[in-house]
Amino acid sequence: MVASLNPNRTDLGKMDTESLWHAMVQHRPFSEKPPKCMKRGVGCHVTDAEGVEYLDGVSGLWCVNVGYGRQELADVAYEQMVELAYSPLTMSHEPGIRLAHKLLALLGYEGKVFFSTSGSEANETAFKIARQYHAQTAAAGSGPRYKVISRYRGYHGHTMGALSATAQAERKLKYEPLVPGFLHVSPPYAYRFGEGRSEAVYNAACLRELEQTILYEGAESVAAVIVEPIISGGGVIVPPEGYLRGVREICDRTGILLIYDEVVNGFGRTGRMFGHQHWGVQPDMICFAKGLTSGYMPLSATVVKQPVFEAFMGEPGSDSHFRHISTYGGTPVCTAVGLRNIEILEREGLPERAAEMGDYLLGRLQELLDHPNVGDVRGKGLLLGIELVKDKESKTPLEDAGMKAVLKQCMDHQVIIGRNTNTIPGFTNVLILCPPLVVTREQADHL
Ligand code: PLP
Repeated sequence: MVASLNPNRTDLGKMDTESLWHAMVQHRPFSEKPPKCMKRGVGCHVTDAEGVEYLDGVSGLWCVNVGYGRQELADVAYEQMVELAYSPLTMSHEPGIRLAHKLLALLGYEGKVFFSTSGSEANETAFKIARQYHAQTAAAGSGPRYKVISRYRGYHGHTMGALSATAQAERKLKYEPLVPGFLHVSPPYAYRFGEGRSEAVYNAACLRELEQTILYEGAESVAAVIVEPIISGGGVIVPPEGYLRGVREICDRTGILLIYDEVVNGFGRTGRMFGHQHWGVQPDMICFAKGLTSGYMPLSATVVKQPVFEAFMGEPGSDSHFRHISTYGGTPVCTAVGLRNIEILEREGLPERAAEMGDYLLGRLQELLDHPNVGDVRGKGLLLGIELVKDKESKTPLEDAGMKAVLKQCMDHQVIIGRNTNTIPGFTNVLILCPPLVVTREQADHL
């Protein structure tokens, strides 16, 4: 496999530009210079086909939590593939059972786990569960609860429903109209919109907006609220104290299900096994992907608390079951890898390590606050953002060309970092650092 991919670099570059459609990038420049072709990964480093090694400060796409080159994940995949490569979850298999059991044990509550293959699908699944749950529990005569409320800057995926919940204009333009019934409210983005208010006052204002939106829409039409505990790709927005508790209380008062999108936050990234554990507020459903297998296999999970699941229980032949299936959702191989990945996270204490190294890296990055273009440095664990501005007083964002120059300079220094999607030109620009949780002090210094 590796040998056949290694004929001649120039041929590969030509084959690439002739045949491969890359994500999120303009292709015309590739006729001059094909994109970097990565070949190997070990720990926090990836090496390209020319032998140049890069420090991966963004864990692939925020997913390689345990780092690259884990032989035991390859071994467990191999063993499972030989034993039983595939079985659908209309029936059952041992790695699927064990992983579902493990996730519930980590979360500390009773419920059920539905497996899919991507973060987008995990969220789509949650939206469909929310609608069906309400359809099956509603009082006779009431209308459908179908709306979903998310926050601006939140990203929830690329499929039509998940994209409808996503509230980043640039990602949606040209694909609209999307799915009806998805509404957005402001996120608690204190650096830009806190306007000097105390955390408590600002928190109350954000919650009031959510509650008023529900009121204006009619709570009886709203199925769910979805939030990333810490907004990730939207610019690393950490909620103020009391925010998640407030959202929970509003959902409880209005009969709306609360969904956490922990596709990025989960599995140690923020310094706890799960992001919401910083605030001790439980959702009704929680969606995982990325760090669930550290990107070694495509797997996601929608975890539903038992009272929600109860609404789907019925007599044989009745139609209250969840009519939803994904061919590759929760295959034996993917779930076996997920299980071993969690074992590594626990055995090596990687969530705790993320907390410690995150504090260290945050401290080092805060040294940059003296720089005229660094407006804010924020985050939790190893999910960190640096908001770049042209002018600190007005907080005018650094223009896109400036962001690109920073990213290029990092690349020139063999360091890969991320950035938020710039949804509205001139609105906000945040560099994102989220290295594998095995990052060392020296690597953090280099970053
Ligand atoms: N939710 C969040 C918070 C994400 O960051 C992403 C992807 O980056 C998704 C959902 C979608 O996940 P996927 O790309 O696996 O569909």
